[in-house]
Formats: sequence, structure tokens, C-alpha cells
Amino acid sequence: MTGEECFFCEIVAGKIPAIKVFEDQNHLAFLDINPRNPGHTIVIPKRHYEAVLDMPEAEAGKLFEIVKRLSVNVRNGTKADGISIIQNNYRTAGQAIPHIYFHIIPRFNTEGPAVLESILSVKKMPEDVLNKIAESIKAGGGQQPKPSQPTEQQAPKKKKDDFDF
Ligand SMILES: [Zn+2]
Repeated sequence: MTGEECFFCEIVAGKIPAIKVFEDQNHLAFLDINPRNPGHTIVIPKRHYEAVLDMPEAEAGKLFEIVKRLSVNVRNGTKADGISIIQNNYRTAGQAIPHIYFHIIPRFNTEGPAVLESILSVKKMPEDVLNKIAESIKAGGGQQPKPSQPTEQQAPKKKKDDFDF
């Protein structure tokens, strides 16, 4: 998908309205149209990248600075008791729009289970399996992506059967 047909790029271009809470030269933040709680905010880079994995590290660092700063604003602006920062990459992980976005979600003591990770159960694994996974991650090739070609193809390809959890 190119930037021209991307929902978030359309918001950046002003073709789709959004209730903005922050904007600078490279970043935009606006209220989620389907908020999980009042003040649920979306933060995006204006430049189109599908996933954080495709983004140059310096830009990713700057993006997270903005996320951190806005998390303080959201907490103070909503009197939240906690803040969940959520960021999903690729459809399998729940990424709905193929343009990097962070959720900043205010959390309140009055609501249900605090831990969103409860959707994935804990998986006990023997140490030799853990060591094998650690070695694969260390060799994962997460070098700086080239800004000129921010495509999914730069992510290291893994065979589905590398691990058998
Ligand atoms: Zn986009």
C-alpha cells in the first residue's frame, strides 16, 4: 500500500477530518474514532511507513519521544489512573491500518482487568528452547532500515516452522 491510498495519510493530508490534539512537522496525534476510553489518542508519523520495523531508528526514537510526551498530556487531561501505550505491527499482531500508529489509552481504577496481555496466555518453555529463541533474536538482523525503501521486505523473513511452541 502506498501513502496515497492510506487512511492515516489522508488524515495527514487533511482529506479526512480528525480531532487533533498535537501536531508538529513530522508527527500528528488525534482522538481515536472508536475510543476504548475517553481520551484514547492515536499518534502517527506523518511519513508513511507500514510498521516500526520499517522505520529508521532515529525517526522511531523521535516518534516515541512524542508518544511519551503526549502520554503525560493524556493522563493529566483525563485524570487517568494509568496509561496503556499499545503499538501493533502487521495484521497478525492486530494492526488494522498499515501506517505506524501508537495507541495511548487512559486506564481507570474503576474498570476491569488491567492487563491487556491477558489475551495471550503464558507459555512455559524449557531452557534449551528459550536459548534457541534468544540466539535467533540476536541474529535477527535488525540493522537500520534504509529510509528510501521503507517496505515490509526489509524485515527478516522467518520460516513458519522455525519454532514449534
Ligand atoms: Zn500512510
